[in-house]
Amino acid sequence: MKFFTQMKILSKKKVYRFLLVIISTFLLILSSQIIQTQSNQVLALPPSTSEIATGWQNASFPVENFQSYTSGYGYRPSATGGSSTEFHRGLDIAAPLGSYIRNWWGGEVADLSDNTACGTMITIQSGAWTHLYCHLMGHVESSGNQLYLVDQEGGLTLMKGQQVAGGARIGRVGMTGRTTGPHLHWGLKYNGEYLDPAIVLRAMYYNS
Ligand SMILES: [Zn+2]
Repeated sequence: MKFFTQMKILSKKKVYRFLLVIISTFLLILSSQIIQTQSNQVLALPPSTSEIATGWQNASFPVENFQSYTSGYGYRPSATGGSSTEFHRGLDIAAPLGSYIRNWWGGEVADLSDNTACGTMITIQSGAWTHLYCHLMGHVESSGNQLYLVDQEGGLTLMKGQQVAGGARIGRVGMTGRTTGPHLHWGLKYNGEYLDPAIVLRAMYYNS
């Protein structure tokens, strides 16, 4: 009896979280469309991405316990204060400290680092797409000729060059690097050019 009650609570939570992602993503897309229209940029996926666009159901939302989008892609007031602006090359997704991050799309671990403003960071290459995950828990270690991301408490080890499936747990939300609160900074590049992750989320949730 108790088990079933717990199951019900769990699924309600999941449904709530899914609705939260959908509604927040819709608002995010709306705001990014307004900004992009103002700056005369085109809100569209690069033309040659149809091979991926046909299979968005294989894409995974990058955090397990979504809370909110805290900062979108584009110009914003400098995070270090003052009146200066900076270009934010990614999307900030708030989630509880220590909650799991999932690999957006199957690919190869192209790089691991922990010595920049990005903190402990994973770069994954999937064809022409590069996806970056910043401010994670854990640290980078080298052993022999290999580079590893080690998050012992989270039970995670990732090796540079390793293949990772879409949706696989690759890290946990941390506070490493330049950050004022626990969140995932999620960056996306297509053929080496940064683009707004909101465009990809729109394709994942509204065009598929
Ligand atoms: Zn960010």
